[in-house]
Amino acid sequence: MIQKRISIFSIIFITIVITSCDSDRGFAEQISNMPMRHLDNYNFNRENSFSQRLNVSGDMVLSYLQEMDSDPNYSLYDPTESEKVIVEKYFSLLPSYIYDLCKERLAGIYFINDFYSSGLTDFIYGDEGDIYTILVINPSVLEKSVSELFTYKDKSCFKNENSDIRLEIDISDFYRGLLYILLHETAHIVDYVERETPFVHMTMKRLGIVKEGKAAFTDQYWSAYRTPIDTLELKYNDSLRFYTEEDDRLISNRNMISVYKELEKSPFCSLYSTTSWAEDYAEYVSLFYMTQALNLKYNIKIFDNDNLIYEFAPFENEKVLKRADKLKVLSSL
Ligand SMILES: [Zn+2]
Repeated sequence: MIQKRISIFSIIFITIVITSCDSDRGFAEQISNMPMRHLDNYNFNRENSFSQRLNVSGDMVLSYLQEMDSDPNYSLYDPTESEKVIVEKYFSLLPSYIYDLCKERLAGIYFINDFYSSGLTDFIYGDEGDIYTILVINPSVLEKSVSELFTYKDKSCFKNENSDIRLEIDISDFYRGLLYILLHETAHIVDYVERETPFVHMTMKRLGIVKEGKAAFTDQYWSAYRTPIDTLELKYNDSLRFYTEEDDRLISNRNMISVYKELEKSPFCSLYSTTSWAEDYAEYVSLFYMTQALNLKYNIKIFDNDNLIYEFAPFENEKVLKRADKLKVLSSL
């Protein structure tokens, strides 16, 4: 997940800026005036290990997140010594290209209790205005396995109207969910820095930080940031809501098979990847790496009363697999 929500205060402020100045310069100024947007405030040293980057300037980032999500209950989680070892070990599992980029461009890592999603990547400015990043992680990913986390994520889109229906996504019971979150979020870091998609977030578009030229991975599948091209005919796409508390907007689990059958016909590798071109990129990099480099399985299974009634493995789909040719980040595997 990427930086997604802005507070009511920010919306009002931004609206005032837009209507009074009618210019993105005011917006850029507002972003630039935020202390958390500046590398200077993170004691950044590229030689530091990743565990040394945990919770640096934590109060500053915590205040930002509390305001952004209007949630004063967020708090910093201090990983134990053994969890710090796991963080370091899991970074070492990343593709070397991404690992090296994170050493250069990831300024801080924050574990936030009760964070609304499993992870988030946000951008900050270096001295020359170049892009650095911070990473926010929900500590629950240290407890859940990759399979549990992925199942939990997809299940959050469905209303449980038939209690006999059960979704299970098998990837790994061995690795903690942290592996998937690190792969997904650090793919956003690649995108922020290297611009693989036209832009990672609408904020970047307003700031004029966009890709020049074609985006080889996404151009042929997306007509706009959140809109897959019409010919893909993804009718459930607009109804997918992850981690929402608005139960009435969720899709009934009676339609679960139809939703995955739609995915099966598409070039996308997960439900979440259909929500924007940025998520398409991050999901692809993470799931491609887990299935093709770490040799983990990735099977979506639906049961009715413990009878398997549907099964689908996205990386056995040629339409999905062939997209890897367009990704330079995967060429070093
Ligand atoms: Zn994401």
